[in-house]
Amino acid sequence: MTQVNHPYDDLNEQAPQEECGVFGVWAPGEEVSKLTYFGLFALQHRGQEAAGIAVGDGEQILVFKDLGLVSQVFDEPILESLRGNIAIGHTRYTTAGGNTWENAQPMFRMAPDGTDIALGHNGNLINYIELLDKATELGLVDPAKKPSDTDVLTGLLASGVHDGNNLFDSAKELLPSVKGAYCLTFTDGHTLYAARDPFGIRPLSIGRLERGWVVASETAALDIVGASHVREVEPGELIAIDESGLKSARFAETTRKGCVFEYVYLARPDSVIKGRNVNEARLEIGRKLAAEAPAVGDLVIPTPESGTPAAVGFAQASGIPFGQGMVKNAYVGRTFIQPSDTLRQLGIRLKLNPLREVIAGKRLVVVDDSIVRGNTQRAVIRMLREAGAAEVHVRIASPPVKWPCFYGIDFATPGELIANAVTSDNEAEMVEAVRSAIGADTLGYVSIDSMVAATEQPANELCIACFDGKYPMGLPQGNSNADLVRKMQATASS
Ligand code: SF4
Repeated sequence: MTQVNHPYDDLNEQAPQEECGVFGVWAPGEEVSKLTYFGLFALQHRGQEAAGIAVGDGEQILVFKDLGLVSQVFDEPILESLRGNIAIGHTRYTTAGGNTWENAQPMFRMAPDGTDIALGHNGNLINYIELLDKATELGLVDPAKKPSDTDVLTGLLASGVHDGNNLFDSAKELLPSVKGAYCLTFTDGHTLYAARDPFGIRPLSIGRLERGWVVASETAALDIVGASHVREVEPGELIAIDESGLKSARFAETTRKGCVFEYVYLARPDSVIKGRNVNEARLEIGRKLAAEAPAVGDLVIPTPESGTPAAVGFAQASGIPFGQGMVKNAYVGRTFIQPSDTLRQLGIRLKLNPLREVIAGKRLVVVDDSIVRGNTQRAVIRMLREAGAAEVHVRIASPPVKWPCFYGIDFATPGELIANAVTSDNEAEMVEAVRSAIGADTLGYVSIDSMVAATEQPANELCIACFDGKYPMGLPQGNSNADLVRKMQATASS
């Protein structure tokens, strides 16, 4: 039997949320806090709930962090007061731990030998319970306070710095026992460290300044501070940067599984991940989508902004003209002010406004990056019809999202994903049910193979778990969504 739920509340649907962006700079003589501020600006899309900067001058570390956007947390006097040779910065979106000041990063700890330590983390650990038990046993955290995975990690890292064991030694000892997705930047105030999990799930790149080094989640953050891209931090690699240059150590064998969703939606289009420009990958997905799921229409329009490159690619390959049919209120999702009930009834109109003159009477092909819950697409289609569209054909630049992510992205629970609202395992039936639920004239998705091919990465070096349910690092402990996934996997294989 085919069933589709309609849990619609247009304003409550958020796009998939990145958990964090990390940045680090070692540059004596430069204004490192300002370099970090601008680096964080370029990474704002990776986390909009909290921001922080830790600065070291060789003696001590000063941390300033708060809830809010980078521009809300920092001003000129604060940045002036953060002086030093080295800085790390963080933008945060919350899923592990609540959205509180304590959980904002960088985290700060003092090691048993008095060394100050600050750390920023992008990703999600899957053996949190094991690490929490260890940290509790050592008296480093109070489990009753529900410390975040990053807090636990920082505590354990700091506890290993004693008796001549420095932070590099401590990280080399600890990281092989840390499971999950992580890109870390950390410092003892003298040396800048960075590490990436052995699967390389999230991106992390190294850049060179004239008088220093930079590490950042995305290459776009290197560009904004004028750093040239040197290379990525390799999966399973730990690096240390100080006046003697860059030192590297392997703490685990590499099993590369980069997140394919970084190419589809998460990363900035002007970033490069493992040699592939993200915008080019999205254009190519759009071209392949046009070949796999062709549409008859008068105009290709994107759901702004994330659908734009794929829509351009679709238009190129199909020969249907490209146009902008909607304008996005870019900052409305980033306000802390809750809309009044009257405004809430406007739903999607708070976020997107149709250009009636462009779309009236047209057969539209609307290209979006992904469908998660389906609420946004349904609201967009209704809005386009109200604005006079003759037909609305929806084309999606990723395959159906059926599985939640446990490696640093917050989608939804399995039951909230619209592709799972259909009990049938017949793909065509599922697509038809989703089409009907969102109210499109036709609906088409790109295939997994075409999406992967567009990234120009070997298929066995990508994580595609949210599309195929095969989790390369396994599932987290003590997580109700993971328990649901185990049940879904058992049903699928029976
Ligand atoms: S499950 Fe999806 S979003 Fe999460 S790391 Fe894998 S590909 Fe990326």
